[in-house]
Amino acid sequence: MPIKSIRQNFTPNTEQLQMMETFSEMISHSIRIGLDHDCSTMKKLSMLSYSQLRDYPVLSYYKLTAISQAAGRLSLKKDIKKGRKVKSPFVRKSYLVSCYGFKINGMLLSFPLNREFANAPLTDHTVSELSNGIRARSFTMTPTSLSISIQKDIPEIKPESVIGIDRNLRNITISTPQRAIMYRTKKILSIKQNSQHVRDSFRRFDVLVKNRFFARIRKRQTRRVNQILHKISKDIVQKARESRSMIVFEDLKGIRKLYRKGNGQGNSYRRKLNSWSFYELQRQIQYKAAWEGIPVRFVDPERTSTLCPICGDRIQEDRQNRRKVLCINCGKLMDRDVVASMNVAHKGWARFTHPGGPPDEAMKGNVILEYREPLIECMGVS
Ligand SMILES: [Zn+2]
Repeated sequence: MPIKSIRQNFTPNTEQLQMMETFSEMISHSIRIGLDHDCSTMKKLSMLSYSQLRDYPVLSYYKLTAISQAAGRLSLKKDIKKGRKVKSPFVRKSYLVSCYGFKINGMLLSFPLNREFANAPLTDHTVSELSNGIRARSFTMTPTSLSISIQKDIPEIKPESVIGIDRNLRNITISTPQRAIMYRTKKILSIKQNSQHVRDSFRRFDVLVKNRFFARIRKRQTRRVNQILHKISKDIVQKARESRSMIVFEDLKGIRKLYRKGNGQGNSYRRKLNSWSFYELQRQIQYKAAWEGIPVRFVDPERTSTLCPICGDRIQEDRQNRRKVLCINCGKLMDRDVVASMNVAHKGWARFTHPGGPPDEAMKGNVILEYREPLIECMGVS
């Protein structure tokens, strides 16, 4: 069942602030116990901590939630074994999280506090997100914000059509029975190269200053890239919703697709830069689609770039234009990325709507897409 979280600004009153501080103190207390006894499992930590938290004047389920937060923070110790840099498990900013005993009352979130109910006002936007069929699962409160995790009870639609997606280094190309669209992603590469350049030219030796500076650059880069990816994923999911389509990706294990001939840049540095975006786009589409009940499926990338999506013959590379491929049988010169996305769509459609059929059906018959030159969409963000 799809889950997402809605976040709004929030100004707590003194009592609520006090509760957040108490909650965070309980987490820290439990973390200290966990560290002393070298334990991070919820079960063991509850046995050790619960009685120790008896003097905190809060309902018992807040104690249990605090212990579970502590267990989660302590399990970060796994990172040490894997050689990753770890943050301190201790709480730096106070907060309160709970999935018990709270209610949504119109424009208010009510939760038990000191034998009464405390109220947090909800914004119009939050209230509108909490409409029918939505269940609030938990809330997280900080001194400046309130997030509510919500769940939607939505069955997966029975697809009537299909959208195939091809991801490569320069663009994201989709094919639907109505059209082919190429989303240019050159901007993403330039954002990443630009921040790499800024990092490379940093000359100060003060490690603290340097780390802070790099963290800021990284954050800014992620924000700008995500903005572009969000526009693209939103557009694709909207098209899938309108046409009641399933969305099909290639299952890119180990990004071997990126090694595909004709993808130009044989430069591993660039490859590394973009691989993250590939998965981020996929992640965004998966959760946005889940929220709408749109199925997302994966197919084996094998032969999606070597066979003609219309007749199934082997395609030839065009020597004059590396972005084009030629099917001698059909007598057609086609865009390489559109061909790949059409094959992905065919494969997914055959595999998931006619399971048990011969696998090659995907490449030959069962034609539901016609070849079209792609419409170019520039999703750059200035
Ligand atoms: Zn052909």
